[in-house]
Amino acid sequence: MTLNWTLDATDGTARAGTLRTAHGDVPTPVFMPVGTAGTVKAMTADAVRSTGARMVLGNTYHLMLRPGAERVARLGGLHRMMDWSGPILTDSGGFQVMSLSGLRKMDEQGVTFQSHIDGSKHRLTPEHSVEIQRLLDADVTMCLDECTPFPATEKQAAESMRLSMRWAARCREAFTPREGYGLFGIVQGGVYPDLRAESVDALTAIGFEGYAVGGLAVGEGQEMMFSVLDTTVPRLPTDKARYLMGVGTPSDLVGAVRRGIDMFDCVMPTRSGRTGRAYTRHGMLNMRNARHADDGGPIDPACTCPACARHSRAYMHHLFKAGEMLGPMLLTWHNIQYYQDLMAELGGAILAGRFEETAARIDAGWRNSEEEKAA
Ligand SMILES: [Zn+2]
Repeated sequence: MTLNWTLDATDGTARAGTLRTAHGDVPTPVFMPVGTAGTVKAMTADAVRSTGARMVLGNTYHLMLRPGAERVARLGGLHRMMDWSGPILTDSGGFQVMSLSGLRKMDEQGVTFQSHIDGSKHRLTPEHSVEIQRLLDADVTMCLDECTPFPATEKQAAESMRLSMRWAARCREAFTPREGYGLFGIVQGGVYPDLRAESVDALTAIGFEGYAVGGLAVGEGQEMMFSVLDTTVPRLPTDKARYLMGVGTPSDLVGAVRRGIDMFDCVMPTRSGRTGRAYTRHGMLNMRNARHADDGGPIDPACTCPACARHSRAYMHHLFKAGEMLGPMLLTWHNIQYYQDLMAELGGAILAGRFEETAARIDAGWRNSEEEKAA
């Protein structure tokens, strides 16, 4: 049996469930820390595990260029290479080809691009992307698609989405079913409800183990993103996992879980951690801000991570001011802990039938906060 997802409880349209993979079960809603190049930046695998994270994401684009998918396979696959025994989802490489590589050329068959590392020329097709993800040993393989740029006219969004749907059929064809492994299709269509609906219909006609909503959080704003989810999510199959790609802020996650999304990934907690920005139950703090220089209290008193349990805001401030490596390490740990705690809280609330009061409390903590600017 391929990877599957089962529903444990609903509260409104929010869902709690279990994703069953070759490398273990994952309770949803779940946030997957981003392990771009075979590492969640600045964290050991043990540290990632200690936050309660059960599943991580790897980036096909980065891994195919360096160290190379065949080499990862020879080293025993991505799980073994990065000491992550839990499930791994890999993206298709398409998004980063568009955002990172130099020259690139799209055609019906695939995309040719230049590596951002050494300028070497590469080609990615739907079949090749699926094969690379098999070599990496991804539990969840994502279909290669074109992430429609924002803004796009309805005509551009339609052409781009229809190309992605033809590629999705080719990915399905190229994917070899294996016990506990699965392939997810990606809904595109920009901000146009009719195109999103057409995309859902095309994907469900092909049939996938899970469905992702792509092409959001690209500049359309939260209100528009939620409006796309409002029209798209209800059309998705109820018995398959739903994954909102590359999203987002704590308030984005709360709103998307409310609308029936099960899976998330985003670079924000790790990237912010490296630049001194901390997510807390009372909003965002910038550890570089001078007001933390003499503060002996923790970043977030409710947090159990080592940065909060053993260190002060003053020490974190010092580490960032001094450019010490430990600053980004501890703060990334803290931010991943915050995201895991947030998802565990939302999941628990759905199971207990009190999602809305929990969501309101989390939102209030953020609404009343004033984000700190760098000192
Ligand atoms: Zn903490």
